[in-house]
Amino acid sequence: MIPFLDLRDGYLELKNEIDTAVLRVLDSGWYILGEEVEGFEAEWANFCGVEHAVGVANGLDALVLSLRVLGVGPGDEVIVPSHTFIATWLAVSAVGAKPVPVEPDCKTYNIDPSRLASAITERTRAIIPVHLYGQPADLDPILEIARDRGIAVVEDAAQSHGAKYKGKRIGGASDLVCWSFYPGKNLGAFGDGGAITTNRPDLAEKLRELRNYGSKKKYVNSVAGVNSRLDPVQAAVLRVKLRHLDDWNERRNAIAELYSVALAGSGLVLPTVSNWAESAWHLYVVSSPNRDHLMSVLKDAGIGTQIHYPIPPHMQEAFQGSNFTPEQFPLAQKLAGEVFSLPMGPHVPTNVADDVRRAIG
Ligand SMILES: *Cc1c(COP(=O)(O)O)cnc(C)c1O
Repeated sequence: MIPFLDLRDGYLELKNEIDTAVLRVLDSGWYILGEEVEGFEAEWANFCGVEHAVGVANGLDALVLSLRVLGVGPGDEVIVPSHTFIATWLAVSAVGAKPVPVEPDCKTYNIDPSRLASAITERTRAIIPVHLYGQPADLDPILEIARDRGIAVVEDAAQSHGAKYKGKRIGGASDLVCWSFYPGKNLGAFGDGGAITTNRPDLAEKLRELRNYGSKKKYVNSVAGVNSRLDPVQAAVLRVKLRHLDDWNERRNAIAELYSVALAGSGLVLPTVSNWAESAWHLYVVSSPNRDHLMSVLKDAGIGTQIHYPIPPHMQEAFQGSNFTPEQFPLAQKLAGEVFSLPMGPHVPTNVADDVRRAIG
């Protein structure tokens, strides 16, 4: 049996280090923000090669607070990928702005920069590229279009911890880069967590206020902020796991290589990695018009799979009011109907690739 994901394996491998770190926080008597969160913020910024990291409660809040700090609100439009996890869109609707979907590049499934210009209007305030499944979106043309028009770029990096674009780690290329440390992510906590990285000190300072009741000094509130703080217990866990992130991403990469060999000629469409990209392999996503049959064959062989994502955001009831139709986004529609994810992670056994190939014939 190979489950799609077993998070307990990650804990067991690092049990001693993690237990020590968690007990250190419990023993410290300090349970909100403080040294542990600051320590993680510094180490995460350093890993990403960026000046500032601000810890928040989760990845969705990272996106929402980023849009808020840029002043995006009602009447504004924000460009989002048509093919993404719904959180990207929910951040836009949360600040009262309108998500404007742009279709993906057919090979990488990331937002297609050549389709951006025609989606931009005078109300466009920001573009949110997503580094989906761990592979960086093509940032340079996106940043160029945005810079020329005075539009902000906020990256949704929730799936791309450690990924590289043109040799540089994701984390500092645009105005604000948003991270989730949800347990299943490449760098995952044992609960919720998130962060924003940036090279702009002004935005970092405002984010620190916004996440903490809009307050820089206790009981003095300069803006109507929220409570969205990274928990120090989770920060301590993340500091331990960060030391193993490169190693764990290498193990993911090895699994991806085994899949690409074992599944060549299988009829499945395999992931395409651009020559300028180093994927973090958050997910290994294949596609086939015959998806349902293949998933059931794999299930019978004891191999777990999942669909990321079965219903595109424009067809979710949550966005019914926007009156999108399936015909407007045929590529997102097709991907939702054909993609599925094979087991991927640092603890997936290396025989998985041959097992999948044998099962699907
Ligand atoms: C996980 C994820 C998020 C949201 O993160 P949470 O921490 O669960 O709020 C946002 N965008 C993408 C692409 C994600 O995969």
